[in-house]
Amino acid sequence: MTYNAGHYDVIVIGGGHAGVEAGYAAARMGAKTLMLTLNLDMIAFMPCNPSVGGPAKGIVVREVDALGGLMAKVIDKTYIQMRMLNTGKGPAVQALRAQADKPEYIKEMKNLIENQENLTLRQGMVNKLIVEDGVCKGVITETNAAYTAETVIITTGTFNRGKVLMGDLEYESGPNNQRVSVKLSEHLEELGFELTRFKTGTPPRVNSHTIDYSKTEIQPGDDKPQGFSYETTEFITDQIPCWLTYTNEFTHEVINENLSLSAMYSGMKRGTGPRYCPSIEDKIVRFNDKPRHQIFLEPEGRDTEEVYVQGLSTSLPESVQHEMVRSVEGLENAEIMRAGYAIEYDAIVPTQLWPTLETKKISGLYTAGQINGTSGYEEAAAQGIMAGINAAAKVLGKDPVILDRSQAYIGVLIDDLVTKGTNEPYRLLTSRAEYRLLLRHDNADLRLTELGYKLGLISDDRFSRFTEKKQLVEEEKKRLGKIIIKPTAAVQAIMEEAGGSPLKEAVRAYDLMKRPELSYELVTRMIDSNPELPDEVTEQVGIQIKYEGYIKKAHEQVARMLKMEDKKIPEDIDYDDINGIATEAIEKLKKVRPLSVGQASRISGVNPADVSILLVYIEQGN
Ligand code: FAD
Repeated sequence: MTYNAGHYDVIVIGGGHAGVEAGYAAARMGAKTLMLTLNLDMIAFMPCNPSVGGPAKGIVVREVDALGGLMAKVIDKTYIQMRMLNTGKGPAVQALRAQADKPEYIKEMKNLIENQENLTLRQGMVNKLIVEDGVCKGVITETNAAYTAETVIITTGTFNRGKVLMGDLEYESGPNNQRVSVKLSEHLEELGFELTRFKTGTPPRVNSHTIDYSKTEIQPGDDKPQGFSYETTEFITDQIPCWLTYTNEFTHEVINENLSLSAMYSGMKRGTGPRYCPSIEDKIVRFNDKPRHQIFLEPEGRDTEEVYVQGLSTSLPESVQHEMVRSVEGLENAEIMRAGYAIEYDAIVPTQLWPTLETKKISGLYTAGQINGTSGYEEAAAQGIMAGINAAAKVLGKDPVILDRSQAYIGVLIDDLVTKGTNEPYRLLTSRAEYRLLLRHDNADLRLTELGYKLGLISDDRFSRFTEKKQLVEEEKKRLGKIIIKPTAAVQAIMEEAGGSPLKEAVRAYDLMKRPELSYELVTRMIDSNPELPDEVTEQVGIQIKYEGYIKKAHEQVARMLKMEDKKIPEDIDYDDINGIATEAIEKLKKVRPLSVGQASRISGVNPADVSILLVYIEQGN
């Protein structure tokens, strides 16, 4: 017998990386929100890498921040090390990566969530949804509490019928021996959702005292650390290094000899693993000509001796893991504190979702995070904030928010999921974004802050700082467009210092900055007096001027893409009525039910010829 436990606008099931963003965004938009999660001590727990960011993912963290999310703020307060990656390459691929203090990250996140107005936090296991006439009306917990709601967001990660695998050891469990969620998964199947089975793995953690760091290479943080969040003004300078070592032929021998004992290689049919986060067994088999693989030793926090052995993700038996770890230089005497393992879990086939992350089958029900077939904290956070925004928008009578592929990596991620689906845990990569020159680390605020502000997720104070920055950038570009640099001796000295050919004639400072060898800093040294501008402004001016031609071209491509996005497909379209479209395309179109011709064109199996026919059909007013 259930009891009435209360009514909310939005209920979020799960307090992982997707759940916290969803709950926080919904509450800040003014929706009365409840977050139900299995263990309140494990809010935003990181079951794998103690790190946030990296290529593409780091840019997503900035995007979540530009929309008013949490991840960037929390990592900026709790990192033990911060590095900007790819500094030698162009701005489109530069990204921040931080090592997190895992326990502190949880503490900080929990604190922010607990103190958020409109957001109630409760420990509990949701077993069922309340669904009436195809509309989600709430949830029921294992303690028979019935919470009613206008919208519900499921963010249950890898807990869905989770099974831990290590050698021949196999048991039902969530990550890190947390409780598993079985009934909710079964219930989703009963409701008619198509589920798939994926897996992922984690490496052993070793005791820092037992590592011989003298045999490894130090990997320090940046001298001048930067923050992920546009709100961060103070940076942690007391950083802790990571260390680099390698596998070797002995390690590979141990793995090869024991491959048949690995849960993933024992011949049993298993869920599909992440191609871009492979286990060490995978790496040895797939790249058997490589004599060694990198192993990063990453501290899990300031107040713990546990060290994460990045690169040794495995589901080999514990006994073999000892042998494998100790074959690595610097780890000869290493003591494993926690063994590595793989986890297998249910995910929802994401083509069952609208681009708002609402399910097509049940109105008012949203899903976000690893349950949608992705892998990674950042991917989860990105979906979490969008699901939170859309679930709250629905309740508050506001328009849904869908980011397009030129606006944000978040748009790329969600569009890929709901349009193409995924056969393996989906990870964001820069190569997935066709407009990556526009989706940079440095301009996430310019792309999304206005939207975040409009939604009520960005404070007035932050927004006024943002508009001031934008104005300063425009003024400085204008100023540089008016200044003429003459080929004086001082100017030629700077040209020589930059390794460029001497200036032949007078030229606008703006145009001079486009030369590859010249930076904003060098060009402004050629000018007698310059305004004092914050680094973020000069960086933006430099990038916008230097890459102006490429950026313009990308915008032209985007305009063409958006034209196709604007061609909306009527909700009641009857694909069987369209003559000439291939049978496969009709099947896919019926399954995905794209909202626009642009989205239809990205469905695999829908060819350009099918798109042309579809376009004509719609334009004829059918
Ligand atoms: P989670 O962080 O898993 O959070 C799920 C939340 O839902 C939890 O708070 C849980 O308490 C709650 N919950 C679950 N069921 C219920 C229920 N029925 N009722 C109420 N609450 C519920 N990612 C990578 O990018 N690279 C890796 O190498 C990698 N390795 C991994 C290895 C392992 C062993 C695991 C477990 C995960 C790994 N991941 C990896 C994935 C990463 O942990 C997830 O992508 C990320 O945590 C997903 O966030 P989420 O919010 O979707 O789910």
